[in-house]
Amino acid sequence: MPKSELLVLDPQSNEFEAWLTRPGFRRPVATVLHHTWVPAAAQYRGRQTIVNVEAFHMKPVAQGGRGWRAIGANGYATPEGKVVTGRNLSYDDWAHAKITLSKPESEARKVSGGQAGWFNRNAYGLETVANFDSEPPYGDGPAARSFETAMRVLTTVHRVFGIPADRLFFHRDVADKSCPGERLAREAVRADLAARLGEAAPVAKVVLDGAEVACAPMMVGDRMTVEALPFLAALGVAPGPAGPFIHANGRAFVGELAPVCAAEGWELAYRSMPQGPRLYVKRAQQ
Ligand SMILES: [Zn+2]
Repeated sequence: MPKSELLVLDPQSNEFEAWLTRPGFRRPVATVLHHTWVPAAAQYRGRQTIVNVEAFHMKPVAQGGRGWRAIGANGYATPEGKVVTGRNLSYDDWAHAKITLSKPESEARKVSGGQAGWFNRNAYGLETVANFDSEPPYGDGPAARSFETAMRVLTTVHRVFGIPADRLFFHRDVADKSCPGERLAREAVRADLAARLGEAAPVAKVVLDGAEVACAPMMVGDRMTVEALPFLAALGVAPGPAGPFIHANGRAFVGELAPVCAAEGWELAYRSMPQGPRLYVKRAQQ
């Protein structure tokens, strides 16, 4: 069985770009971020740590390994600031993010059509050498250095293949795991990536009579949430009936406020625009 070269490269180098686009490479259209969990960042001992990961992935199942034909993911982001190259992109399948949830996260389901092997065929898989359930991804520890490396790897991969930041997924979007760790939030990582790619982050807005309503709209997956009281005040709707839908942080899903607003004669129309999600509020036609 083929061993991978496990090249130790600078994620912002020509060598890494050349590795990604070697002859025969298959072009990823998404990425999946992982953490190794074990080894944690504090346990990293140079390239040999990734050699050990490969050995575990390729060891037969009967001997306690995974029984794969090569190391699972396409890259490993290390606390030394380097990416260790993994499974070559010319393979017709990668082995890091099979869909095992019966209900994958909504965007992951949309992009994959729910096909179990979609991410392993179409998404570059990056393992971050860290345990982000317990090690902090921000600050100056080894796990934070791994995370910064991961962001640099993702920036190169997304730029080289022209993948937008909102095609970055987390392993937990498709599998019953915390991966890449409870301390990471996908929207924050996507926003970081978008900034590094120079993409204008799409900004959600609520529009009433052509003017923006200041109610801090935010997207949670494909649903919009707003600060409920300023939103209802702009419509002259008493907050009382909306009470059950307002969360402790003062926010509410627009979809849950819609019936309360409809009772007061307001129509809410959601549109996904290139410049960002829009909620248009208008008087219902009599
Ligand atoms: Zn994972």
